[in-house]
Amino acid sequence: MRRPLVAGNWKMNGTRASVAELVSGLRKQSLPEQVDVVVFPGFLHADQVLTSIRSLDLSVGVGVQDCSPDPDCGARTGEISAHQIADLGCAWVLVGHSERRTFWSESDEVLTQKCRAAQQAGLKIVFCVGETLEQRESGISLAVVEQQLKAVLPLLDAHETVVIAYEPIWAIGTGLTAQPNQVQEIHAGIRAWLARCLGAGSATVKNMRILYGGSVKAANACELFAMPDVDGGLIGGASLSADEFGAICRAA
Ligand code: PEP
Repeated sequence: MRRPLVAGNWKMNGTRASVAELVSGLRKQSLPEQVDVVVFPGFLHADQVLTSIRSLDLSVGVGVQDCSPDPDCGARTGEISAHQIADLGCAWVLVGHSERRTFWSESDEVLTQKCRAAQQAGLKIVFCVGETLEQRESGISLAVVEQQLKAVLPLLDAHETVVIAYEPIWAIGTGLTAQPNQVQEIHAGIRAWLARCLGAGSATVKNMRILYGGSVKAANACELFAMPDVDGGLIGGASLSADEFGAICRAA
């Protein structure tokens, strides 16, 4: 049985005050024990969030939304290395989010370097993939996702420390959620592709957690999470409300 995971991507949102309010709001939620819950605040708030989560004794993991592709610290003005992230106490990092692929033109090569740096530092990775609306309409969604995964395949064979998030770009922040059967089709396709690449007997094939992301809300979480290959969600906008995020965690 794969343990569900629900992750909140807070993106470039929040102030010290609103982040404090969000974390104390999470304390009031009855977060289910059988679900892994992780939040991804912006870099500036990561330390604050770690400290409050520890002091409130919440069972919530903390990660950041990016890391430098360079494994070593040094002359990279403005960058934050995976080692520094781990040193702060974060356990997770998001890699390959479509906003970074689009606005920062992050290539498969750079994403592979980021995954490698994160793994060397001992961070767990949520690796995001997904197609555009045009690609979906051309019927190449799964081929696009497979291509994105192929770039990091050697690093994926580590199901304890890597989670895949399928996030169709047309569903992110748009209010358009993919239908549960569309999501299941891609998730099952990813698992079948992993079996072809790694061999059906590989533990990764059975145990890799595959999350869905794209306008998940409390109102649609249950039907999405009920799909057999959907192991939880990566939640953007709705994770900024403790009540909404708590309800999504309970749906997983
Ligand atoms: C995301 O940015 O990862 C995301 C899924 O956003 P939203 O839930 O707002 O669509």
